[in-house]
Amino acid sequence: NVSVVLFTSDLRVHDHPPLRAALDGSSAVVPLFVRDRAVDTAGFAAPNRLAFLADCLRDLDTGLRERGGHLVFRSGDVVDQVCRVVTEADADDVHMAAGASAYAHRREERLRTALESEGRRLHVHDTVITALAPGAVTPAASDHFAVFTPYFRHWARQQPRNVLGAPRAVPVQEGIGSEALPRRGDLSGLSEGLAEGGEREGRKRLTAWLRSGIGSYEDRHDDLPGDATSRLSPHLHFGTLSPVELVHRARKAGGPGAEAFVRQLAWRDFHHQVLAARPDAGTTDYRTRRDLWRSQTSAARDIDAWKEGRTGYPVVDAAMRQLRYEGWMHNRGRLLTASFLTKTLYVDWRVGARHFLELLVDGDIANNQLNWQWVAGTGTDTRPNRVLNPVLQGKRYDPDGTYVRRWVPELEGLDGAAVHEPWKLKGLERAAHDYPEPIVELADGLARFKHARGRA
Ligand code: FAD
Repeated sequence: NVSVVLFTSDLRVHDHPPLRAALDGSSAVVPLFVRDRAVDTAGFAAPNRLAFLADCLRDLDTGLRERGGHLVFRSGDVVDQVCRVVTEADADDVHMAAGASAYAHRREERLRTALESEGRRLHVHDTVITALAPGAVTPAASDHFAVFTPYFRHWARQQPRNVLGAPRAVPVQEGIGSEALPRRGDLSGLSEGLAEGGEREGRKRLTAWLRSGIGSYEDRHDDLPGDATSRLSPHLHFGTLSPVELVHRARKAGGPGAEAFVRQLAWRDFHHQVLAARPDAGTTDYRTRRDLWRSQTSAARDIDAWKEGRTGYPVVDAAMRQLRYEGWMHNRGRLLTASFLTKTLYVDWRVGARHFLELLVDGDIANNQLNWQWVAGTGTDTRPNRVLNPVLQGKRYDPDGTYVRRWVPELEGLDGAAVHEPWKLKGLERAAHDYPEPIVELADGLARFKHARGRA
């Protein structure tokens, strides 16, 4: 008998429970990826992610070919396409990874109904996209943890399942038609410094990270110029690396750096479990604070300045330019730019989240929307009124100003931490730098925030 393996956000052959189950239960499989029209029309077809996806699909195809198989690629409605492939292959079973979003749940339900009406079965596998299943860690009286610390206490006590090796052989059902795989080269509008996708690239980065990065992660994860985080987020987003494998390998590396890294992986699981329990949290405030955000029309110029990296606050501008250039931003940058938009400019977090999703190669609903809500104070942060001051953040996490000078060449001539406060320069010296004045006074932003929160 034949099984179809539907790949979604799990574009790898290592540690892949759906592929393993399909191979164990069938004589041949059809590895399938469907470019889902619904995902595209919902606004997720951002060039950076499509380019990374193209790399991942080609590499997945290579990984399967090395094992005697190949990838079938289709586009259209995912349920229609899976049903067609199932009929063409006369398959009995379809295996796929469980997703956490509302869309993933609907997709699963539609697929199950369509397949069962034809007498076929859908098997949905947990712990492919997250290290622990979203429902595996829950408090006694609720369907999810709203606060990370108690979640993490429970999460850390559970051992993730064992890692599965890559299969030696993938015998496939021949004769199933495939469209040509997409290529990065056919896309335009990409960030110039966009990283390369694919499982082999992800595994290379992981090995290098375990060898020479993770050891200093605890001390250096907030070091903006040092850029000392793993940069594995796009690989986790597309599933070219398995979060289960990452937890095991990091723990094996051991030490405070590895512990701190595993804690970040737990944050990722945490947001997935919140989203699974509260599917509307991608668009609607997790906690209603009745925020009275500025109208987008009156804030339009400030929003544009924020997006383009010309707010006049150097560290904010540096981070926003990194986002545009690389399709990726350091976590400290994400925190301080999101705080600046929502709490200093007082603009709705959804505006910022949308812009991030247009550019981020790792952009996803669970991590992007819920982190934005966390920063905005509408989400799960236990200190929702905290405001990050961009000048203090700059001086603390970029003490010599190296990060700012890297991304804001207009300020190249300024030495050391002076780069964080160009408005302190006098007369001609100030005029020599073609860099904007701050678009808002921090004190005014704070007053507006406090006033609005006071009323809410
Ligand atoms: P590392 O520091 O090496 O961490 C390892 C892994 O842990 C990351 O790859 C990521 O998968 C996970 N992780 C780390 N921090 C977080 C966190 N706060 N929440 C969830 N997972 C985390 N991350 C995304 O993957 N996609 C997003 O769309 C996204 N949007 C964000 C938006 C905002 C406003 C903020 C504040 C954070 C966002 N993050 C997002 C979380 C975090 O910034 C990135 O995961 C991290 O910067 C990726 O870099 P890295 O792989 O080097 O991380």
